[in-house]
Amino acid sequence: MKVVVVGLDGAIWDPLLPYINKGELPGYAQFWKKGMHGPLFSTIPYLTQPAWKSYSIGKNPGKTGVFHWSKIDWSEFRFRHLNSTNFHGDDYWDILSERGYKVSIIDMPSTYPPDKVNGVMISGMNHGDGPWTYPPEFERAMPSWFPKDGLHLFRRNQDPEVTMDGVEAEIKSRFDMAEMLWDADLVHLSVEMNDHVSHFMWNNEHIMYRNFKANDEGLQRILNKNKDGYTILMSDHGNGPIEDEFYTNEFLAREGFLILKEGDSKGLSRESVVNLGTKLKLDRVVGKLPNKMQNKIVKRIKKMDSVMESAPEKRINWKDSKVIALDEGMLYVNPLYEDEKESILEELTKKLISLKSKTGKPVIKNILRGNDVYWGPYVADGPDLVAISHEIYHQRYPLSGYQWASEIPDKIWGYRYPQVGHHRIKGIFGMVGPGIVPGEVNPSIYDLAPTILKAFGCDIPSDMDGKSLI
Ligand SMILES: [Zn+2]
Repeated sequence: MKVVVVGLDGAIWDPLLPYINKGELPGYAQFWKKGMHGPLFSTIPYLTQPAWKSYSIGKNPGKTGVFHWSKIDWSEFRFRHLNSTNFHGDDYWDILSERGYKVSIIDMPSTYPPDKVNGVMISGMNHGDGPWTYPPEFERAMPSWFPKDGLHLFRRNQDPEVTMDGVEAEIKSRFDMAEMLWDADLVHLSVEMNDHVSHFMWNNEHIMYRNFKANDEGLQRILNKNKDGYTILMSDHGNGPIEDEFYTNEFLAREGFLILKEGDSKGLSRESVVNLGTKLKLDRVVGKLPNKMQNKIVKRIKKMDSVMESAPEKRINWKDSKVIALDEGMLYVNPLYEDEKESILEELTKKLISLKSKTGKPVIKNILRGNDVYWGPYVADGPDLVAISHEIYHQRYPLSGYQWASEIPDKIWGYRYPQVGHHRIKGIFGMVGPGIVPGEVNPSIYDLAPTILKAFGCDIPSDMDGKSLI
């Protein structure tokens, strides 16, 4: 029995259905019409890093111990980036590897550094400087058509149709790699580009259509090749349109929960350097340099603080700050204020509930305590409060100097597009294969690991949070 999992980062059924009904996406249509299908409920927050590994470990973040891309390290007063080594628990493919099944794991986000498996693992974003494949020798055999990361990013100084030509080639490369590593019992491939297109091109119907078509062609190839086995279509979370982005730590600073250092100044940011470089047309000069030098320059720039992307740790007065946020309304109370925690959370909840957007609409839909959302041994590492916003507002944690993305002047955006799409808790699910009865289901992301283990006839560990769908 072969199981192939196609994971499309940020995919959701809604925008696909009109095309499926017109007969334009025959790959997706096989799952929708002939498979078990439905929305796939993600983790809270519905963020790439915690969600992908919750899929492969089959457990909620309270058990995997990872809730975000970063964590707040209160002992050293800094943000700490997390990677695959910070997750607790075995991936379902570890169990398959132990049983002697051969696996090919391709480009799943949050798998860097790669794990030892019985087969090949090509780790996905975010990569560090070390080996990014298991076995490490595989990296040397890596074909040139397989880029380590998606390199074609939508920028305002390039026609999106041209950028999309590159994105299509990158999408195809993930399916090509699945065919190259086809000789395995389990093949998992992730297509991360789908999420990038959704974030920046959600309002561009033609680009979105090209993205759907490129993934659909890949799905058709996989379905044609895996006629006798199970094929699963899934995502880490969905996507949908957004009206604005909210900078939670800016709000906390204005309300006195987060204190900035005195004489705080943003200094030279990544944005100001890149925007000045673009203005002076230095990007064209850099574009003509050898690849190695280009990479060095990009690396240098990426290390600079970004007002819109990176953690603002140097600008925070950590001792006097009572609350600090990560993305998606994950709110953490400083342990130095443990005694006041309840009154802090109460006051913060009141302020958040009355918060209105630039267009006068309420921003926060639901406020939950961390231990109401998560269960397991690592709940204490999670947020104290989770403020879930209405879907049209996305919450971010950098200190951009503005509370809303719509207030940020054009000259700061520079080459960058504001996000027009962002994550939704409902993603995509479809499954076809022997004995699968077509019809609608409502699975959670925790159900997939038990389902795949069952397909191979393996016992399902009792501490997995989901149940088999077959
Ligand atoms: Zn994602």
